[in-house]
Amino acid sequence: MGSACRAPHRLPTCSGQGCARLCWRSVMCWAAQPSRRRSCQVSPRSPCPPGQPRWQTSPTTPHPPGFKFSRASYLLSLLRPQIYADLELQRHGLRVFPRDPYSFTPLLEDRSPPRSLLLGHDMAQTQQQIAQFSQKDAQAYPEYEAFMGRMVLALDPLLDAPPVDTAALGKGSMLQQLRNLQTLKPLLQAGTSGMPGNSDSKGCLPAPGVGNAEPPQEPHLGWQALVALLALVLTSKPSWAPVASPGTAMQVSHHLSTPGLALGRQLPHYYEVLTAPISKILDQWFESEPLKATLATDAVIGAMASPHTPGSGYVLLHHVMGELEGRRGAWGYVAGGMGALSQAIAHAATARGAHIFAEKAVCHVLLGRDGEAQGVALQDGTEVRSKLVLSNASPQITFLELIPQEQLPKDFVQRIRQVDTCSPVTKINVAVDRLPSFLAAPNAHNGQPLPHHQCSIHLNCEGTQLLHQAFTEATHGHPSSRPMIELCIPSALDPGLAPPGCHVVSLFTQYTPSVLAGGRSWDEQARNAYADTVFDCIEDYAPGFKASVIGRDILTPPDLERIFGLPGGNIFHGGMSLDQLYFARPAPSYSGYRSPIPGLYLCGSGAHPGGGVMGAAGRNAAQVAIKDFRHL
Ligand SMILES: Cc1cc2nc3c(=O)[nH]c(=O)nc-3n(C[C@H](O)[C@H](O)[C@H](O)COP(=O)(O)OP(=O)(O)OC[C@H]3O[C@@H](n4cnc5c(N)ncnc54)[C@H](O)[C@@H]3O)c2cc1C
Repeated sequence: MGSACRAPHRLPTCSGQGCARLCWRSVMCWAAQPSRRRSCQVSPRSPCPPGQPRWQTSPTTPHPPGFKFSRASYLLSLLRPQIYADLELQRHGLRVFPRDPYSFTPLLEDRSPPRSLLLGHDMAQTQQQIAQFSQKDAQAYPEYEAFMGRMVLALDPLLDAPPVDTAALGKGSMLQQLRNLQTLKPLLQAGTSGMPGNSDSKGCLPAPGVGNAEPPQEPHLGWQALVALLALVLTSKPSWAPVASPGTAMQVSHHLSTPGLALGRQLPHYYEVLTAPISKILDQWFESEPLKATLATDAVIGAMASPHTPGSGYVLLHHVMGELEGRRGAWGYVAGGMGALSQAIAHAATARGAHIFAEKAVCHVLLGRDGEAQGVALQDGTEVRSKLVLSNASPQITFLELIPQEQLPKDFVQRIRQVDTCSPVTKINVAVDRLPSFLAAPNAHNGQPLPHHQCSIHLNCEGTQLLHQAFTEATHGHPSSRPMIELCIPSALDPGLAPPGCHVVSLFTQYTPSVLAGGRSWDEQARNAYADTVFDCIEDYAPGFKASVIGRDILTPPDLERIFGLPGGNIFHGGMSLDQLYFARPAPSYSGYRSPIPGLYLCGSGAHPGGGVMGAAGRNAAQVAIKDFRHL
């Protein structure tokens, strides 16, 4: 498609989350730069100018006034804490409502009232809840949390740096080689985060009954050894490792001539979590289906995957890697909707001298005689010159639509074309005139929100098999007949989002294929039929829900692609499967934010470390670009 202009639908909207999704990461790239670089910058995406309507009505789904929706993403957790701090987002207006409790799974069962599972940060209460289903699971839960927590800590340093540049290792002068070795630092940090002496080190346990459980205080060498092994393999030069103090990863690499010893006793358990189907891991820890299915939702969210799919364990980790107000794994609602986060970042950027151009679609990247990026051409004909261009559009849009294909290596183009963008998500935003009342936890007479209303409410999550069935139907081209539904009511904590007594309900549902069986497309009838199925399911858990609906906005995978530029509707610009992470995101040998076009960087969720309202890719890309800028 070369430099053909995209249709106007690419123009950013100011529809709450639409706005957030359109702009925030590119603005972040700018805001992350030191304030002394004050030259004008252009973001192809637009922040939401103050005073604009927050809801973008569509002809088919008009919404009543007074409701504010986070049209796509709706929960915050993954935003890197250093971004909060560096950009002083609180000072720039960001307010978050943390949630506790955070997860509610009502059941459909014959007993009256039906049971439900409520998970929160109070461990004793959470254990009591789990004990309704299994005493054994209640006992195992704190250990499971600690085990996963250790793993998240180990992976954490990898999020804030580019993946190791394997091509650069061992190349150049001695000085350059030493500099290149620095790229191993995050890996080494990851490796040592479980080491004795690390203040976070609390020890970790494999699942109860799995392998040899070890006492919590016993140190493990797993990650350290894995990292050292990796470093060793990458460099093929064991001699690089400098003499190191005892107990460091460097030292372990010296011992890798006896790799069996060096791998450590815990490594296999962590390796298994990363690579196994999450159902296998959860079966090792727990026996009660409502608990396993509730936990498994994090392993499949946004992924065309079942809990039985290998690698789903990593997706779970990705969703518990965040933190809110210092609490690991916590999620919350942004006051005023997710668009308010864009606003805060935009304020931080403009305060540092950025110029933000809203409502400007990029038509193509301008290239110099030597094929280097020289700026962007906008759809309105304006040319904006710049030595650096950072794109948070998907890799597919950035490289297959905004750059003439002959300017890119053929194998690179092929890799980008091959990225798996299969997506199961249909988001439905609903305006209701009262809070849903669940059979398992009926509303109070005054109709005020109860603790479970602030949670992610998991429906059709009674058992892992149910999720698998929902997935299987979609693989045959049929939207699930009992879809996995995550129902959230941000207005339960943030009443300003809806008129008095009314609420906004966010339904994150899967599984919906992007193309229906027989090649049918998602016409109006198909969209409404699926939404009706979802509403029927909710009605089973919360009778009266359907009658409370004032309006609905249905976003199937093709809608997400059309409105937000998400390839295949994939909420992460590309699946978060193991083959599309770290070294291989967006393509092997191109994971360091640079692209085959000098001066053009990928800074969105198609780059490492992937999707979510996280900012990590933007911040990392900005740092790489700044480094290059010094040599221009
Ligand atoms: C329905 C849904 C729910 C989600 N829920 C959550 C959640 O609750 N929490 C969470 O952390 N994450 C969530 N996510 C994921 C999260 O929103 C994304 O991972 C995140 O927005 C990625 O940011 P980004 O800057 O990389 O890309 P995007 O937010 O996708 O921004 C890229 C933008 O570039 C625009 N664009 C494309 N081409 C051009 C062009 N030529 N000119 C100008 N602009 C262009 C696109 O329209 C697009 O909006 C959700 C995503 C979806 C779709």
